[in-house]
Amino acid sequence: MKLYGVGLGPGDPELVTVKAARLIGEADVIAYHAARHGRSIARSIALPYMREGQIEELLQYPLTVETTDHPGGYQGALDDFYVECAARLAAHLDAGRTVVVLAEGDPLFYGSYMHMHKRLAHRYPTEVVPGVTSVSAAAAVLGRPLVERDEVLTVLPGTLPAEELTKRLRATDSAAVLKLGRTFEKVREAFAEAGRLDDAWYVERATMGAERVAPLKDVDADGVPYFSLALLTSPSSVRLAPEIPGMSVKGEVSVVGLGPGGRPWLTPEAQDALAVATDIVGYGPYVDRVPPNPRQERHRTDNRVEAERARHALELARSGKRVAVVSSGDPGVFAMATAVLEAAQDYPDVPVRVVPGLTAAQAVASRVGAPLGHDYCVISLSDLLKPWEVVAARLQAAARADLVLALYNPASKSRTWQVAATRDLLLEHRAPATPVVIGRDVGGAGETVRVTTLAELDPDQVDMRCLLIIGSSTTRVTPQGTVFTPRRYP
Ligand code: SAH
Repeated sequence: MKLYGVGLGPGDPELVTVKAARLIGEADVIAYHAARHGRSIARSIALPYMREGQIEELLQYPLTVETTDHPGGYQGALDDFYVECAARLAAHLDAGRTVVVLAEGDPLFYGSYMHMHKRLAHRYPTEVVPGVTSVSAAAAVLGRPLVERDEVLTVLPGTLPAEELTKRLRATDSAAVLKLGRTFEKVREAFAEAGRLDDAWYVERATMGAERVAPLKDVDADGVPYFSLALLTSPSSVRLAPEIPGMSVKGEVSVVGLGPGGRPWLTPEAQDALAVATDIVGYGPYVDRVPPNPRQERHRTDNRVEAERARHALELARSGKRVAVVSSGDPGVFAMATAVLEAAQDYPDVPVRVVPGLTAAQAVASRVGAPLGHDYCVISLSDLLKPWEVVAARLQAAARADLVLALYNPASKSRTWQVAATRDLLLEHRAPATPVVIGRDVGGAGETVRVTTLAELDPDQVDMRCLLIIGSSTTRVTPQGTVFTPRRYP
């Protein structure tokens, strides 16, 4: 049981919020106000979201003009009406039903809903869902800024006395005058009196389909409906900016980790760094993972020219570009971050930052369970940047220390023997049944993950897109194929 005051926006059914649409569809009771003669605009906006079988409550105003035989006069008749409406809605709420009161625009902005709110909100759980107001819609339709910087927007009902309107229009920067119709001539005279008529616009049925826009001074007063308003937009935008000025961005280099593959493994921070970049620099296949943006320059390079690529990025940044140097996985793990930071010593004026990414070892591990759950080490098998003797010595040390190993760069087209050499070396310290995980292109389109043993590790199944995880003496494989390394060590 709950009462909702739901704003529907100015008319276009696509300007109904997602929340409003959902609540309308879920409600037991849909209530809406309407004039004695009129049909409800709010209901027609809500109609696409309503469903078969909902109870509807039409709350029809007893009168729309100031003639009544009620002893309390016009206001007395209205008060009775609101009391009766509130009682009708309360009956539904008491019966445990959800009641949505529809409101054109925003419910708390000159809306009839607020009369229900004042009478029911302290008695029942109540929520108000804001909506796009006619003021916002009118500015949008005109395509003119409404207020900027410290400008003041004044919202006025056209029912105010003429002198009051004039005084307020003189004192404000921007203004919206609502509730036109029979008030129109008076409102227009107030604009003229305030010296603002030449800048004022008339907007009728904004976003509703039969929309109409005209300079206020040209409007024929006879045809003005209730759903219209007069608008003074931001005075500083009366003159439009002459041209797009040259941008003076401050250059910088972000070394961005793209993650192992796939958008879910791209962090929001990395996404932001890509989205602000003017230039994308990196190894071709990694640059290809960034959707092309015609505003951005793409610099695809060969994989082997890291230092050159880093200098190029820093030069671009020095000339004012915002450069994203992209790496797969984490840029600090056998990737571009160190190359850029090394070169950046010659570019002390260029800011460099590192944006982390999910590294391949974590991604591969997660696919099989938790093989990296205890101490582990990370080693690149590539002997392009360090001699094989160093690799071999580190493998040996890790094996002796009973660490789990995550092996990056296990093979490539030109490096083919390292996997077999590693396997044989490790077999001197580890049991043949030691679990081995081969993750290939994890997170990407060609993902495969295999669990095997050290003795059966087949170098033919390993290429440069693979990462190997070699278990320690405590790493286990369950009958279901899950691999994990317990945190407790015997
Ligand atoms: N900076 C990257 C590593 C670059 S070195 C990172 O943090 O992941 C390149 C090596 O990373 C590859 O040879 C492979 O061993 C590993 N690798 C990168 N992405 C991978 C993926 N999606 N699946 C399996 N291994 C991957």
